Amino acid sequence: MREIVILSGKGGVGKSSLTAALGSLLGRRHTLVFADTDVDAPNLHLVLGAVPVESHQVSVSEKAFVEPDRCIGCGLCMGVCRFGAIVGESRPVIARYSCEGCGACAIVCPEEAIDIRQVVNGRVDIMRVGDHRMVSGSLGIGESSSGRLVDVVKRMAREQAGEINADLILTDGPPGIGCPVIATLKGAEQVIVVTEPTPSALSDLGRVVEVTRGFHLPLGVVLNRADISAEGRVQLIHFLHEQRLELLAEIPYDPELPRALARGELAVITRPDADSSRAIRQLARRMETPGPDRGHTGQVLQFL
Ligand code: SF4
Ligand code: SF4
Repeated sequence: MREIVILSGKGGVGKSSLTAALGSLLGRRHTLVFADTDVDAPNLHLVLGAVPVESHQVSVSEKAFVEPDRCIGCGLCMGVCRFGAIVGESRPVIARYSCEGCGACAIVCPEEAIDIRQVVNGRVDIMRVGDHRMVSGSLGIGESSSGRLVDVVKRMAREQAGEINADLILTDGPPGIGCPVIATLKGAEQVIVVTEPTPSALSDLGRVVEVTRGFHLPLGVVLNRADISAEGRVQLIHFLHEQRLELLAEIPYDPELPRALARGELAVITRPDADSSRAIRQLARRMETPGPDRGHTGQVLQFL
């Protein structure tokens, strides 16, 4: 079983749509588990039309709780909280969304009036996508510890993969380079980064490439909406050459793609002759084809 992560330096470049399209093609010949680790804004299940099977409340952080009967109002706890999470006039009140659960207040409290307790702050859903499975994490509003929730999603995705004897875990990762991206990359085997030919996407691509390189993972790039800027495309190709990275696919802009998504359809299935669908099919075939070292870096990008 392999684990492939699809990332993007920034949101809105088509990462989830590409994950769904690739999964629907690869899923014809392979058994998959989809994992959505974009726990702040999971949406792959919507694109795939996944059917809920079970849902688990998850506790991935701790918060402070004051026992009012013990508190003598000395104010020591307020003085040590670096997060401004203790408010109130004569008695401390914990502002839940600001509390990071560091425990400093409990340490200084002379009356042992503060408890640090686990709180439920996220959810992991197990779903069905045809014969395949999906695991999706969702962090509660205003909650932190997204990286820990990603760890839970990945563990459950591996359990599901073991149950159905899956060939591949295909992960729709979060945008950016923060904690959930780091957690997503841990234990992955190969990475595909989706970008588009715009200055901001190119800048963000550089950051996500740097992070991924820190994990020594094979990495390939997919250029989405490749034809919206000839100049941007040239800059991207120059960047890839400099960085010795492989361009796995160029997908042309197709105004019908968002319309198909709005109808709950995947254009790669409903419009197989479109140029964008052909490019995604080629990429799926490319991922299935064992091959020699194709990059300049000594990386062997053999996905399945
Ligand atoms: S646990 Fe830390 S962040 Fe939370 S209230 Fe206490 S000192 Fe502040
Ligand atoms: S340190 Fe303890 S006793 Fe003092 S105000 Fe805070 S909770 Fe109350």
